[in-house]
Amino acid sequence: MSRFVQPVPPPVDPYAGDGLLRSWLERHLGPAGHAAAKGRLADLAADVAGPLRAAHADAEAHPPTLVRYDPWGARVDRVETSAGWQTQRAAAARHAVVALPYLPDARGTWGAAARVVQHALLHLYGPESATFSCPVAMADGAAALLSLPEVDSGVRDAWLPRLISTDPDVAITSGQWMTESQGGSDLGRSSTIGRPAVDGSWRLTGEKWFCSAADAAMAVALARPDGSGRGSRVLAPFLVPRYAVDSPLAHAMAPDAPAPGVTVHRLKDKLGTRALPTAEIGLHDAYALPLGDPAVPGLVRAMTLVVVTRVHNAAAAAGGMRRGLAYARAYADVRHVAGGALSSSPLHRATLGTLAVDAAGAFALAGHAFALLGRVEVGADPEAAAELRIVAPLAKLATGRLAVSSASEYVESFGGAGYVEDTGVPRLLRDAQVLPIWEGTTNVLSLDVLRALTREDAGAPLLARLAAAVDLARPLSPVLADTLAAAATQLGDTITSVTADPGSSTVLAGARGLALRLAYALTTALLVEHAAWGDEQAALAARLWARRWLRHEEIAEDAHHHLDLLC
Ligand SMILES: Cc1cc2nc3c(=O)[nH]c(=O)nc-3n(C[C@H](O)[C@H](O)[C@H](O)COP(=O)(O)OP(=O)(O)OC[C@H]3O[C@@H](n4cnc5c(N)ncnc54)[C@H](O)[C@@H]3O)c2cc1C
Repeated sequence: MSRFVQPVPPPVDPYAGDGLLRSWLERHLGPAGHAAAKGRLADLAADVAGPLRAAHADAEAHPPTLVRYDPWGARVDRVETSAGWQTQRAAAARHAVVALPYLPDARGTWGAAARVVQHALLHLYGPESATFSCPVAMADGAAALLSLPEVDSGVRDAWLPRLISTDPDVAITSGQWMTESQGGSDLGRSSTIGRPAVDGSWRLTGEKWFCSAADAAMAVALARPDGSGRGSRVLAPFLVPRYAVDSPLAHAMAPDAPAPGVTVHRLKDKLGTRALPTAEIGLHDAYALPLGDPAVPGLVRAMTLVVVTRVHNAAAAAGGMRRGLAYARAYADVRHVAGGALSSSPLHRATLGTLAVDAAGAFALAGHAFALLGRVEVGADPEAAAELRIVAPLAKLATGRLAVSSASEYVESFGGAGYVEDTGVPRLLRDAQVLPIWEGTTNVLSLDVLRALTREDAGAPLLARLAAAVDLARPLSPVLADTLAAAATQLGDTITSVTADPGSSTVLAGARGLALRLAYALTTALLVEHAAWGDEQAALAARLWARRWLRHEEIAEDAHHHLDLLC
């Protein structure tokens, strides 16, 4: 008797197969702008479905190791990574996944929308990058920080071109050394101290507890300038060269030795992100360059970086959800149950259709955040800046949670195979779980949203967007328009009441609920905007999203009937 072997569907082309991505680009870039991006996107998609999949598997199978000593007992602290990780690194540079929004050509072609193209690249690249998307995010954040006018031009000229190089032999990434054992969310407890040296550089001393991309050539570290006082506001960002080759303090050292004063204590043994080296790092009088004047409270400058990494986090969440959906959908076509293809089961179709609605919402949130970021950077658009202040945390927190719940469903949609390591499916869940944690947990971001609402009037641009979307929704679906209008009114009332007493325990306890409600309403508006432009899939997703997340209704029957349009 022959043994049954389950056929496996071939990898999906993540660009050609993603109708929402393509129509989003058509709308935001215009037909000519989208045409100009197609070559890049198709090239990356082909790599993702081929060599990068293999590199991803290799990097997952061969996690990084830390070699502390050489054979003769000298401390070397070398982080060794796999060939797959190096392939991912080279691909990120070659495909300009970090560089694109900084390239003069790209800005010339797409203007502020270069960030929209970059988001599309991330959407394709991230899910099969073995979380090289993390160093990509931090390199982009560092590049944005180095681009600020208050950063010394000598420092910028020395490091920015390396961060945004598209030559794999030149390109570097960056770490982000913020979290300390006593405080990740609570940065005010940071105890790393910065002291000026006579030559204008600084020396940092302290202990950093989570340092991802520990193999990167540089890091942006937060430190407290000596004598600057307590709290988080005064913390200043510094650039720390990671290797001897870039540290003026290194004499007669191997170029790839750690810079003097930088010690890698150990690598973290993590639930997921296994290919990504995350280290505990000690600093002892390590050479550092201030990014801006350390005498001027620096947390605001550091937030330039954090906003970028938060929107990358949203892109990673949305990209992972879309890829999980594509795989689950393809698997349902080849897996047979109860006498037919799984994809013909109304119940399974409803499950996948509901996931598709969530994936569409997450994509719109992340895409909107990138579009705003581009407008802030290229046009210094004050309206975009005001909206991004609240959209960045909302997009990050809402997509992070959706990514985890969706990943759990994707694993389940493969049945037992979803739980078996070498199918590659369990990783979806492991890697999703980090998304609500790093770059600010859900609760911490909810408090940030509350601060933005009560201290910076950040509700105004959001409520304006909701009101405009109500008008756009009316011709599409009166029920949808009424649902969004009711949500907007309730949110307006809640914002008024929380602003009246922002410190009350009732308001604080409800911060997460409020942030999620805002994110769900915003997502409805974004899908409505895309639907009003003429996208049929977005029109359906908007209606189902509003029923699911604003009215808390069951959408199974529609999700089943319309699965093909939703995917
Ligand atoms: C895989 C991985 C990689 C990482 N890489 C990096 C990196 O490269 N660089 C870096 O700097 N950091 C990194 N981090 C650290 C990460 O950013 C922090 O772990 C995160 O910000 C949470 O901080 P914490 O660990 O101190 O948790 P805590 O702040 O102790 O949080 C514990 C719990 O308390 C809640 N909480 C905290 N404050 C409040 C509050 N005020 N009100 C209500 N609830 C609250 C949180 O939501 C959470 O549920 C990484 C983490 C992971 C898991």
